[in-house]
Amino acid sequence: MTASDTIVAPATPNGTSALAIVRVSGPGARELADAALGHPPLEPRAATHRSYHDRHGQLVDDVVATFYQGPRSYTGEDLLEVSSHGNPLIIKRLVEDFVGRGARLAAPGEFTRRAFLGGRMDLAQAEAVMDVIHARSEQALAAAQQQLRGSLGRRMQQLTDALVGIVARLEAYIDFPEEDLPAEDRETLVGGIEAVLRGTDDLLATQRYGDLLRDGLRVVLVGEPNAGKSTLLNALLGEERALVSSEPGTTRDYLEAELVINGFLIRLIDTAGLNPTPGSIEQLGINKTWEQVEQAHLLLIVLDATRPTPPLSTRLLDQLHGRPCFVVANKADQLPAGAPLPSLGSRFESMRVSALEGPGVNELREAIGATAAGFEPADNADRIAINARHAGALEEVRRSLQEASAQIRADIPGELVAANLRSALAACSEIVGPIDHERVLDRLFADFCIGK
Ligand code: GDP
Repeated sequence: MTASDTIVAPATPNGTSALAIVRVSGPGARELADAALGHPPLEPRAATHRSYHDRHGQLVDDVVATFYQGPRSYTGEDLLEVSSHGNPLIIKRLVEDFVGRGARLAAPGEFTRRAFLGGRMDLAQAEAVMDVIHARSEQALAAAQQQLRGSLGRRMQQLTDALVGIVARLEAYIDFPEEDLPAEDRETLVGGIEAVLRGTDDLLATQRYGDLLRDGLRVVLVGEPNAGKSTLLNALLGEERALVSSEPGTTRDYLEAELVINGFLIRLIDTAGLNPTPGSIEQLGINKTWEQVEQAHLLLIVLDATRPTPPLSTRLLDQLHGRPCFVVANKADQLPAGAPLPSLGSRFESMRVSALEGPGVNELREAIGATAAGFEPADNADRIAINARHAGALEEVRRSLQEASAQIRADIPGELVAANLRSALAACSEIVGPIDHERVLDRLFADFCIGK
């Protein structure tokens, strides 16, 4: 598919820099290059030093221009990249001049949209372009880069190929209704569907990891006022950021800070202390604490090691079920040598930490990084990390397949089963882009030689 108009936009952020790039894509790119950059015409894919003159003949800047002849370009169309000095005035004049010569300002994401429409990338890859640009940790970047290289697309291809094979097998019987589906074939079909279901579940299992890569591991610090939560947050950050005060109950709201540990984005959330007898303003903070606790990936229960261990409320204990949790015995510097650490029972190992002086903070940091790494499902060599949109479509795939499998077992007519399988295929195509249904027919005739 080719667009009829030519678009232009700066490809680099607004502001001063050594270099900046303006990108032009569409059927008019070649003509615009010839008009603005003079002769001889640019050789495709060769960076060429030229003077850029606007349409009134005024010199705009000395630039390096590269022309990519479609379809061998990012968008699949003729595409021109002009690299100029990074002054916003120059960029503005370049863009205005291209518009003056007939190009149109690109809408957000339009270059990548054209790349998708032009068949240069699937939908998951187009999404990954944004993820690569916006990744805030090395791990998120690595996963986005794998997706940009087609990791999710390849997995979806395997699943859709398998599905297409199943549909083809089934349709062969629909075309010959006098044939009953033999029990043996029924088992083969159900087995095939179940294999696709397992593949779907494997992908769905990566969603939590994907959310964690995009939004960070939510680590929530809870504990009594004055246990040292703010001090610990600062120690983990390695810089002063949270308000530290020796008066109980000063952290009224929650406070969030980000850091990267072992390449993972970590969100530290310091909550209002869970004071058993709070004032009314403090109560508001405590309500927010519960909201944070419920959304935590990891809880740090911070105890003052110099004081008797407070009993944990049943509400907090409920939240600990199935959720990673570390007990931080803080202020260990104040403990006499050999004194036992406060403990919350054998289920939790207490970590000896002095937030103020430093010992134990690195070990805690490592343990937090290891918890983040633990969210990646096993056998995920291609670092798939699906997003909510992919998960929505995969849930739909799963629903349709489960229904199809039940229908086959119940000997429901093939047309109805095929309708469910087609819904599953349609949901797959929401993830990567349209699936060519011709392939179903090709497979049908290639695999089957019924000869009747
Ligand atoms: P929060 O209310 O739980 O956030 O507690 P703060 O971080 O405000 O700390 C309360 C008091 O304990 C402050 O005076 C801190 O300096 C002190 N404190 C925090 N951590 C330590 C520690 O590891 N050792 C010692 N000796 N004092 C600490």
